[in-house]
Amino acid sequence: MLRVGIQFFKIGMILKILLLIVGFFISQTVIAITALKVTEVTSGIFVHFGQHQLPDKINHGAIANIGFIVGDTCVAVIDTGGNPEQGYALKKAIEQNTKKPVCYVINTHVHPDHIYGNIAFKQPGVTFIGHKNLTRAMASRGQYYIDKASEQLDIKLTAKHIIPPDKTVKKQIFIDLGGRKLMLTAHPTAHTDNDLTVFDSKTNTLWMSDLLFIEHLPVIDGSLKGWLKELKRMEKKHYKMVVPGHGPVVTDWPKSLQAEKNYLQTLLTEIRQMIAEGKFIEEAVEKVGYSEKDKWKLFDQFHKRNVTTAFAELEWED
Ligand SMILES: [Zn+2]
Repeated sequence: MLRVGIQFFKIGMILKILLLIVGFFISQTVIAITALKVTEVTSGIFVHFGQHQLPDKINHGAIANIGFIVGDTCVAVIDTGGNPEQGYALKKAIEQNTKKPVCYVINTHVHPDHIYGNIAFKQPGVTFIGHKNLTRAMASRGQYYIDKASEQLDIKLTAKHIIPPDKTVKKQIFIDLGGRKLMLTAHPTAHTDNDLTVFDSKTNTLWMSDLLFIEHLPVIDGSLKGWLKELKRMEKKHYKMVVPGHGPVVTDWPKSLQAEKNYLQTLLTEIRQMIAEGKFIEEAVEKVGYSEKDKWKLFDQFHKRNVTTAFAELEWED
């Protein structure tokens, strides 16, 4: 009797262990992260293209173009995504495309759709790089971003997810990925006050991030005048390919820049005119820039806010 009991006990234990093992694998499959879809747009430059959507509880803020550049010795990540999971999915996409380790994470600016995946790459050997103003921007907006994340994006963030740069760029620096030097440029206030672009001389590609919007209405969070000034400087250069922060890559620079330039120039001209006529911001919001409406996606969602921001800036100019 006792022997039979022991046998049953043993079988019971074995079954329990088997169930645990099966359960473990099932749970692993459920939480397994799928690699983010990326496209190699030119030799060694991979982009995940975001959809033109407002960040919300369905897309969890994953709306921007993000990606990576592969050198002979290591990889530079350019922006990490709109939530931590997207960061991990990007990391998986990198592992599927190269055996080389990540050595740099470049954050092009402070906006949530570009930085919320940072935590996926926080490990020894990885240097985070940003504009000299990025640390301050993250510090001043961090708590607000954390508070809004669950309510607007249905994701949980804590202070540990807002990862500031280890290395900052005042004007320009070069980083070497092995046989591939990238030039990182810190821009004067334009889309934000902490815009950083990445130039790869090997393929003559400029990763412009949100200094360039294609299809998606440009969003002003820095300076309308500053942005236009920077675009006028940059349009004189020759690039084979430019990667925008939102929209497809372009290969006809500077032609592809004109839509954004026109939109910003229209705001500048029409708002200045209204200010000169003594009109108020409320009227400007209803009247300025509507000739641009049909040219852009998300116009209704961002245009009025752009006019408000730009009006406040231009109201005080000499
Ligand atoms: Zn942005």
